[in-house]
Amino acid sequence: MEKRELVIVGGGPAGLTAAIYGRRAGLDVLVLEKGMAGGQITITAEIENWPGIPMISGEELARAFREHAEKFSPEFREAEVKKVSIEEAGKKVVATDKGDIEAEAVIIATGASFRKLGCPGEAEFTGRGVSYCAVCDGAFFEDQVIAVVGGGNTAVEEADYLTRFASKVYIIHRRDSFRADRAVVEKAMANPKIEPVWNSVVERIKGTDMVEGIVLKNVKTGETSELPVAGVFVFVGMNPNCDFVKGLVETKDGGWIVTNEMLETSVEGIFAAGDVRDKFLRQVVTAAGDGATAAMAAYSYISEQLHLQKVLFEPERVVSLFYSSIDPEQIKLANEVEKKYAKKVLLIDGYKNKRMCEKLGIGDLPQVAVLNKGSLVKSKAINDAQAIEGLL
Ligand code: FAD
Repeated sequence: MEKRELVIVGGGPAGLTAAIYGRRAGLDVLVLEKGMAGGQITITAEIENWPGIPMISGEELARAFREHAEKFSPEFREAEVKKVSIEEAGKKVVATDKGDIEAEAVIIATGASFRKLGCPGEAEFTGRGVSYCAVCDGAFFEDQVIAVVGGGNTAVEEADYLTRFASKVYIIHRRDSFRADRAVVEKAMANPKIEPVWNSVVERIKGTDMVEGIVLKNVKTGETSELPVAGVFVFVGMNPNCDFVKGLVETKDGGWIVTNEMLETSVEGIFAAGDVRDKFLRQVVTAAGDGATAAMAAYSYISEQLHLQKVLFEPERVVSLFYSSIDPEQIKLANEVEKKYAKKVLLIDGYKNKRMCEKLGIGDLPQVAVLNKGSLVKSKAINDAQAIEGLL
């Protein structure tokens, strides 16, 4: 099976930034992307919140990210990841439509996809008046009346953008105010072509060959009404793209991947970055930040694993002190042990390597342990350096 150090799944802002950081740290990096690298921003008209560049099209920014990542020569491969699994001895296997790859560490950076309305007519008229991308399809609605569904930043921003083409844009929202940022709402509400339709949901999308109208239901009164429109743009939220790790990593509320500060998932050696994870703000700048953090955490994990493999798991007999690097008393103990037994006792930060301690069966820190080729022979809790004497 093909063996790689770091496999990054997804080539959006998070994945591409992870590739830059991973390569700069000297890792062998493979980026797997099912479509064209760049991610969601490729279909975004304008980005005005990427620091340093007041205004840029999403397509241009995506291209710049790609070119920047290419400069560090990671390997890019067009492949769709179908499954990530943990095989014997903790090996991480990434299964793609182009074959399986064994990885030391994996970063999941597969972003999110548009949520559907789920009403009759939506699937039938997708591509024939129903769209999820204003940049891709807006120009088809020159001088026509259209509807945008949703009330967050994306819905309100895209409605504003669509007024470049459409003669009128209704924003259908199930509440009586938008969830979008104040500046975004103020700009849209000052646009004479935009008209909000409050407290309403789309019950049905109607038409013959193409969309001709929508049936709305007022959620307060229960009344239904019809609105003639030629197009419906749906921006009602996103779903994470992580079915391929379903049941493997811990997820939360709607399937978003749970991570800690180092962007580690619940599975050792698997990290998540960008929109796919459970987080407060899903934007390009936070996705890029995540990519950097995940790559450096993966680098530290890989280096540590290789080091530990050599010094802790391969030798016939090792005596090791597992201590916590955040406990001043235990740091003092580790310093004493180092002074007294020099190279006879291996010091391991059990706080940083919590999962490894659990796997080995090491209890509360500090513990001194004797290992034989990676198996725990014995261990005991200690409070002073002298207590190690009998184990040497
Ligand atoms: P994505 O950009 O979603 O990239 C994920 C990549 O993974 C994709 O290329 C996808 O093809 C790939 N992938 C998915 N599944 C697999 C698989 N199984 N195998 C292989 N590859 C896979 N943010 C801003 O900061 N400013 C804005 O103005 C802005 N406007 C937006 C407007 C719209 C219409 C949209 C949709 C988003 C907007 N965003 C904006 C949000 C921003 O685009 C995202 O936060 C950002 O792209 C997230 O990056 P990511 O790398 O986490 O994921």
